[in-house]
Amino acid sequence: ESFLYYTKCYLRESLPLQAMFICILSLPLFHTFISLLTLFLGDVRVRSRAGFETERRGSHPYIDFRIFHSNSEIEVSVSARNVRRLLSFQRYLRSSRFFRGITVPNSSNILDDDYNGQAKCMLEKVGNWNFDIFLFDRLTNGNSLVSLTFHLFNLHGLIEHFQLDTMKLRRFLVMVQEDYHSQNPYHNAVHAADVTQAMHCYLKEPKLSKSLTPWDVLLSLIAAATHDLDHPGVNQPFLIKTNHYLATLYKNTSVLENHHWRSAVGLLRESGLFAHMSLENRQLMESQIGDLILATDISQQNEYLSMFRSHLDRGDLCLENANHRHFILQMALKCADICNPCRTWELSKQWSEKVTEEFFHQGDIEKKYHLGVSPLCDRQTETIANIQIGFMTYLVEPLFGEWARFSNTRLSQTMLGHLGLNKASWKGVQREQSGSGDDVDPAFEEMDSDILPQEPRLS
Ligand SMILES: [Zn+2]
Repeated sequence: ESFLYYTKCYLRESLPLQAMFICILSLPLFHTFISLLTLFLGDVRVRSRAGFETERRGSHPYIDFRIFHSNSEIEVSVSARNVRRLLSFQRYLRSSRFFRGITVPNSSNILDDDYNGQAKCMLEKVGNWNFDIFLFDRLTNGNSLVSLTFHLFNLHGLIEHFQLDTMKLRRFLVMVQEDYHSQNPYHNAVHAADVTQAMHCYLKEPKLSKSLTPWDVLLSLIAAATHDLDHPGVNQPFLIKTNHYLATLYKNTSVLENHHWRSAVGLLRESGLFAHMSLENRQLMESQIGDLILATDISQQNEYLSMFRSHLDRGDLCLENANHRHFILQMALKCADICNPCRTWELSKQWSEKVTEEFFHQGDIEKKYHLGVSPLCDRQTETIANIQIGFMTYLVEPLFGEWARFSNTRLSQTMLGHLGLNKASWKGVQREQSGSGDDVDPAFEEMDSDILPQEPRLS
């Protein structure tokens, strides 16, 4: 099955149609041959791996996202009893759609020249904090993550410095973009592109830019672009209560972040982008990208924040020290990941609506299958305004307050300015809706206690 799947993927991406059909016809023969080979040689793939284990691309069962998108062309009937067993492969669904002749919207990469020109124009201002990623995504026909990250690699001189093959780089980025679920209202490739753009803004900050090495920049951009890779659109508690394979695999700890990291490692290896580097460097890269991605686990925020605070109190951060630089990059990625409330109201509001839509979607599924509705996910009792005010008060303000202590620049002041204005706007909305205006979502008030790891991810 796995061989068939991989062959289909390979065929889909690499060969012309004729070769495809010839190969499909000979698949049963191949299948038998490979089965025999596997019997004699064992699983070469597993044995040949050194260092970090990767989750093979698309090789693990996943919650079938068809249940989250009941309006799709595929009608699925599931009962409350068997929802726990509804596992599928994200990529399998996509390739099987292809073989059934169903085209996925936005699959065309052909751009109108005019739009292409406007997108290029926007990239000249990629370092501006008010960069409109939604507009950029439209202008690039849904390819914002590929276009933006490729541009940033070029801008930072990474292609030249690391002697990167531009075809491999583009292919890697296309695979990354494809492995985000475009059906997720929030955790999709546009969010990844937005985080990558924010990360670029932070890398340009004087304190960082003068001490970062090309290696640091390379890892930061890859980690930002892949930090939510293959996100299923539900949070960790959901995966735990549905006995999901990944929750077991990662022992209920940073389940999603571990999965994003291992998926990124899988794509890095598959693309061969760094095949020309030494094994030691590749392993170091994989491990450091992991440290960056794992830092985005919002349930660990207090630990990172108190470490950051202690360093700032003692004034002992020394950016010539590689470990300190790495820690600052972790903090920068955390900021980039939850910077939505620090954008202009027009951008910030759209993100707020999208993340709430994703939460409520999960809540609807939980209700439908009697799984118990997670905090912040009940559309009957929650409002966008309440969720946002709690999010800003308990997570965003403390983090960006410390960041501004570390890097007290115009950008930091701009971000804090937007944060204040946006919070005031949501409070206005809250007052209109409830008549009071001082409600902070109780789910966030509990975050100071041990309940935090059980809260939904907000980023
Ligand atoms: Zn994220």
